[in-house]
Amino acid sequence: METRRLGRTEHQVSLLGIGGGYVMLLDLDAGTRIYQRAYELGVNYFDGRYGYTSTMQRPVIAQNRSHFVVATKTASNTREAALRRIDEDCEELGTDYLDIFYLRTYNREMLEAHFAPGGSIEGLLEAREQGKIRALGLAGHSDLSALAAGVETGLIDVVEFPLNIVRRDAFDLLIPACEDHDAGMVVMKPMNVGLVPPEAALPWLANQPIHVMAPGISTPAQLEVDAAILDRDPMELSDDEEAEVAYWRRKASSETCHICDQVCQAVCEQHLPIDYMIYHNIFQNELRRLGVKGFLSYPFAPWVKERAEVIFSTGLAQLQSCTGCGKCDEVCPHQLPVMDLLERVREDHAAILKALQQLDWTEEHAGADSPLPARVLESWIRGGQKPRP
Ligand code: SF4
Ligand code: SF4
Repeated sequence: METRRLGRTEHQVSLLGIGGGYVMLLDLDAGTRIYQRAYELGVNYFDGRYGYTSTMQRPVIAQNRSHFVVATKTASNTREAALRRIDEDCEELGTDYLDIFYLRTYNREMLEAHFAPGGSIEGLLEAREQGKIRALGLAGHSDLSALAAGVETGLIDVVEFPLNIVRRDAFDLLIPACEDHDAGMVVMKPMNVGLVPPEAALPWLANQPIHVMAPGISTPAQLEVDAAILDRDPMELSDDEEAEVAYWRRKASSETCHICDQVCQAVCEQHLPIDYMIYHNIFQNELRRLGVKGFLSYPFAPWVKERAEVIFSTGLAQLQSCTGCGKCDEVCPHQLPVMDLLERVREDHAAILKALQQLDWTEEHAGADSPLPARVLESWIRGGQKPRP
């Protein structure tokens, strides 16, 4: 596995890492097996803390702590909350320090709150002084200019952001800022939430000036495929591969939401969490990947099975509340056919819900422990939908 220098952190990171957003849906043993196999394949970047992923990673990183680059994150914007979260993450991972701690930053307001007096940046600087974290990070998937502004302060060591065949706005400001400040570049959504196959997505990304890509791996088979794809020399794309990249860019662009910080949601009279529904709902994305039959036989954790019905029925009710006003189509700066995409999601939800109701997972797994606080689970189920006025 190729390794790259993660900017001024001086870590050597594997080109392939693991994002936690999908592995967290597995039961603990299945999740731990993925992290263990990743270690054997030379992967040393683990992105957490999602659900039980810290618990899954714990026995793996304990075998060789200094080999791994372990990252966690928070959206909290106060010094105290950030320090508390760092201590909790160290405890869950069974480690004395985190290699990177990211602050979630989706827009300028979040950035300003992190950097305000008494804000989370103060906590991170303090934690670094105490040796509890090694590097300060920002992570975001919406307004990448906010991340670039954070890097320009000179305080940020690593940034995690989306970059893929379709979504390339990181090249505007963020990547140049990282290069100027020698900041590490970690890529999320390298396969555009599964809209682009790894055979086209990963080699293209490997040829960009980034250091590690962290797809949301959720099966050992996916991990093996991704690792094998990146095990190549030369890394440069052939003409045929360039043509394949161009094909997938055209094909996936009309489905790629840029999560542009609630542009469409602001005009939606039903306050629907549109970007979440059409693009980054992990349950919907797994359903699209697996199909109804595959979803039902997938080794989801008991807490996921217990909640699957309420997750999809809540989503379906939200989707059915759409009035068809068309405003989302009108305002989308990327000219996405938003209403058509929502309709497709509604059909998927209706199909899986019908199948789930016959299975009775809710009853079978009643009381299964959830790794997520009730407040977080609720926001997942509702997709961050704003309360009705
Ligand atoms: S068409 Fe539906 S989703 Fe789009 S803005 Fe109107 S109510 Fe919201
Ligand atoms: S306006 Fe378009 S690109 Fe932006 S979040 Fe809405 S659907 Fe996605």
